[in-house]
Amino acid sequence: MDQPDLTPLQAVRARIARAATIAGRKATDVELIAISKTHPPERIMPLIEEGQRVFGENRVQEAQGKWPALVEAHADVKLHLVGQLQSNKAEDAVRLFDCIHSLDRPSLVSALGKAMDKAGRQVPCFVQVNIGEEEQKGGCAIADVPALLASAREAQIPVIGLMCVPPAGIESAPFFALLAKIAADNGLDQLSMGMSDDFETAVMLGATHVRVGSALFGARD
Ligand SMILES: *Cc1c(COP(=O)(O)O)cnc(C)c1O
Repeated sequence: MDQPDLTPLQAVRARIARAATIAGRKATDVELIAISKTHPPERIMPLIEEGQRVFGENRVQEAQGKWPALVEAHADVKLHLVGQLQSNKAEDAVRLFDCIHSLDRPSLVSALGKAMDKAGRQVPCFVQVNIGEEEQKGGCAIADVPALLASAREAQIPVIGLMCVPPAGIESAPFFALLAKIAADNGLDQLSMGMSDDFETAVMLGATHVRVGSALFGARD
């Protein structure tokens, strides 16, 4: 059902809309985050000009290098951090990003809490869950989610939902369903899940934020 006359952005939006409709949801309830990591401003600009307003990066330093100028030119652009965050970069992250998807450990709760206090800026966060219980992966262990949420609340960090990156190479759907259940169990209604290979599945399972890179920008080097 590929429609060759659509731009990549139009095609991804159409696929999100179709998946949402099938699931009885509204396309407008799903935020498309264009993941622009590794891509230079001249690749990002056309998407902004086409109307995309929400972007994601996975490294603080890379984002600091290329986004201030883009945001200056388009004040309504929003920038999300979707990659692991070191505690010593918390202040920079709070200053630059409008949403952080990778809150995953107590030390980061305290660093972000202090950084938000200092900046006088409350940045909405997702708690990232290590949904496949993978050794090498970032994210809070499933069993530790309630305690991390409690400490984030204590630090007055606005946690709006849960985020995951399922294990590579196997079907994502069970992991998306599990994340949705954990979120519901903890009274959270926003879900950051789904990337280029599986965003339609994620939308059907309740994603409120999908993080799509290569389907919009092409393959990364
Ligand atoms: C790179 C990245 C994405 C986008 O991946 P694509 O497969 O290119 O869509 C989404 N989420 C996170 C956390 C990423 O690091």
